[in-house]
Amino acid sequence: VRIAVLSGKGGTGKTLVSASLAAASGGQCRYVDFDVEEPNGALFLHPAIASSVPVIVPVPLIDTGKCDGCGECAAACRFHALATVNGRMLAFPELCHHCGACAAACPEGAISEACREIGMVEADSEGLFLQGRLNIGEPMATPVIRELKKRMPGGIPSILDCAPGASCAVMHTVEGCNYCILVTEPTPFGLHDLDIAAGLVGHLGIPCGVVVNKATEGDTSVRDFCGGRNIPLLMEIPFSREIAEGYSRGLLPAQACGEWRGKFRNLLRTALNGGRP
Ligand code: SF4
Ligand code: SF4
Repeated sequence: VRIAVLSGKGGTGKTLVSASLAAASGGQCRYVDFDVEEPNGALFLHPAIASSVPVIVPVPLIDTGKCDGCGECAAACRFHALATVNGRMLAFPELCHHCGACAAACPEGAISEACREIGMVEADSEGLFLQGRLNIGEPMATPVIRELKKRMPGGIPSILDCAPGASCAVMHTVEGCNYCILVTEPTPFGLHDLDIAAGLVGHLGIPCGVVVNKATEGDTSVRDFCGGRNIPLLMEIPFSREIAEGYSRGLLPAQACGEWRGKFRNLLRTALNGGRP
């Protein structure tokens, strides 16, 4: 079973919820940090990283001795990762999508494949913690996400802490999940982005529910949104100084307090049951 935790925008409490679910499971669920540009679940779960595997992608390597500057490869590249300037080839490997079209198009056989490291996948020894890291400046998270997905064996449920937003990377992460938890906050921005996240999950046909973080008394905006869309409101985490202070010190509510541990266990049970309490 795979449960994705996502939010339309950053800073809504997505990691608070996903790491709390993992902590409340007492080692019965795997936590996977798919927020590869800024993984921070480890700050709360304190895993002992036992393995680090580089994520390598193939990029074209041009043999300047064979290349006559014809530009066929640049014309074949749909991603503008190659260009000819005054008969000289220029490559922009960070834009490369590794499709191999350039090598196939080259009449001189001047293009071979080189390896390029773009990030890292790290894991603990028990298979309960996994995180991806994209190297700084790399624009494409998908290969790291693909590598993470390959390294999630069945056996125990996985909680997928997605990147913020509704990007291609989030789409790749959420694909194939059994249930999605959408984390939001009761602000106009929060609602706007919740709408986008709900649209993405609906498009993929995955059942979902909503968790409101920083909920304030009397504000029914998220409840009304959920009612209008027939999406269950699963939990409200209040706007609380105590929770915020604990979080800033790396302490999750599910670690600090028995009542919250119980609430997150219930939330986990609901998510594992596909939304049924
Ligand atoms: S492998 Fe594909 S994306 Fe990369 S440079 Fe060649 S044609 Fe462009
Ligand atoms: S297609 Fe081959 S020969 Fe032509 S510019 Fe590209 S690398 Fe050079």
